[in-house]
Amino acid sequence: MSNPATPRPAKGAKSRDETAELRERIEALQTDIDLENRYLRVENEKLRGMVAAQQRFVPALPRLDGATSITWRRWEPAPLMSHIDPACEQCDHPGPQQMAIGLAAPRPGQQPLIRYQASRCPACQEMTVYRRDRAANLRTTLTEIAYHPPQEQR
Ligand SMILES: [Zn+2]
Repeated sequence: MSNPATPRPAKGAKSRDETAELRERIEALQTDIDLENRYLRVENEKLRGMVAAQQRFVPALPRLDGATSITWRRWEPAPLMSHIDPACEQCDHPGPQQMAIGLAAPRPGQQPLIRYQASRCPACQEMTVYRRDRAANLRTTLTEIAYHPPQEQR
């Protein structure tokens, strides 16, 4: 408790100096924090951009076809077939295309079945996903269920 009857100007002046000094330090720290914040925000944007570019690089395969969940095998080079030109129609990449096989989640008492196939150009990433349906005459028909257009070369 201070006594108003005995003013102490010297101490008052000193604490004003100290207050000013503290304010300066606070401002300096705030400047550091702002700079650090800006740096981290830029860094964060950069990392988000890299993740987005990665995701752009290989399009995601669909996890579902209606209510059926699909388990995908790894992408592998498609087997070359003499009657099919392996080159990409979009970007003229010589091929081979990448291919992935998808298994439909089995119904109770059933084995998992190969029901899906996807093909993708390793250069422009154009991707088409098909469901394989067995017709009554035992021929396999392909129904397109997903398509990703080719991407710009980077
Ligand atoms: Zn291509």
